[in-house]
Amino acid sequence: MKITFHGGAREVGGSCVVVKTDDAKIALDYGIKVGERLSERLPKDLDMVIISHAHLDHSGALLSLVKTSTVVVGSEATREVTADLLLDLIKVQRMNGNKIPYSYRDVDKIRSLWWARDSVALPGMEVRLYPAGHVLGAKMIGIRAEGKDILYTGDFCLHNTDILEGSDLESLPKEPDALIIESTYGEKTRLNRSELLERLFTKINEAIDRKGNVLIPVFAFHRSQEIAKRIDQAMQDGDLQNYNAYIISKLAHKITGHFNRYKELLTEKIREQEKPFNYEHVEHLRRMEQIAEPAIVICTSGFGHAGASYRLLKEWTPNEDNSVIISSGYIPPESPLTAAKEKGELIENGDKVPVKANVEQIELSGHADQSELIKLIKTLKPKQTFLVHGDLEQAQTLSKKISHVTHVEIPEKKERFVV
Ligand SMILES: [Zn+2]
Repeated sequence: MKITFHGGAREVGGSCVVVKTDDAKIALDYGIKVGERLSERLPKDLDMVIISHAHLDHSGALLSLVKTSTVVVGSEATREVTADLLLDLIKVQRMNGNKIPYSYRDVDKIRSLWWARDSVALPGMEVRLYPAGHVLGAKMIGIRAEGKDILYTGDFCLHNTDILEGSDLESLPKEPDALIIESTYGEKTRLNRSELLERLFTKINEAIDRKGNVLIPVFAFHRSQEIAKRIDQAMQDGDLQNYNAYIISKLAHKITGHFNRYKELLTEKIREQEKPFNYEHVEHLRRMEQIAEPAIVICTSGFGHAGASYRLLKEWTPNEDNSVIISSGYIPPESPLTAAKEKGELIENGDKVPVKANVEQIELSGHADQSELIKLIKTLKPKQTFLVHGDLEQAQTLSKKISHVTHVEIPEKKERFVV
């Protein structure tokens, strides 16, 4: 079996690994890079594309397969969320005046080419999907062909969150011939989830005591639902004082419907509720102008560079009573959130505006941290391990920690290996 790394090699973004046997050629993920319009750089002569989860760095290039009618495999929840994210991608490109050769109808075509199932057979190849944690519908991909086993983790996490259980190590195939694993947090260990949430509530309560506003920039998919649900629950339980709380994002609102629809994929506590994501204390708003201040506002974009989160960042950060809570682990260096946090300033029309609000990063990440990555590798004992979806430094640090357990490769883009 030959494995070629077409993206997500020594970088985060554009994930795509092509697996080729004498009888079949498939791609594991088909993503774009942040800022990339719609990629045409990936191979198209494929029998099948398997999508681990809906994040666009794993699924965003699918539109380029519309003309080839390639079959797509992934969970049903991933299909629905991917379709919403692709529609939004086209909308944003059009709004920005970029000409793109795809229409909203092409997204319907992708949906019609999608096989939502957990196992599938090709000539001489069996594919099985395993729950990965990370986000709603996320799967790891197991492949058996030519007497060899490959496991591709996609993005995953092992720890449980309030809404989603982590991947179950016991269910995964042991001693695979090759493990292709993310290394986003290859050198980082995080506080556990309950400590992070405690810090989140402390920070919000402090802002409430000051009668300040709290801005929480989030991604529309999964993080917005997780945080809104957690805040809603905390207000019901008395962990947070009652306060105006809103979520502003049309895309998040649309995707929240899938969280109610596919609640069976989520934790027992969530499954027990009739419509778990119809919040009692957090209101969906269509427009910023509807906010009654002071308030907690969860909104997009997650990096604070556009949408309501950009406008509120400018409006609220000059006031020391307000708070900004960054929930993402990674923020691009050019993001205004980075400037607000690191330099205590925002740049507006070339002028520096001092940030007086409290800016705090509380990483509620859905990725495995270093200890979880090592735990998975030590439990599965792969013969060979390929580290992907991480900067070179992250991968190198992780490599040193696991090289006594498995043979490690940090592939470069376009590099090919034989398993
Ligand atoms: Zn992801």
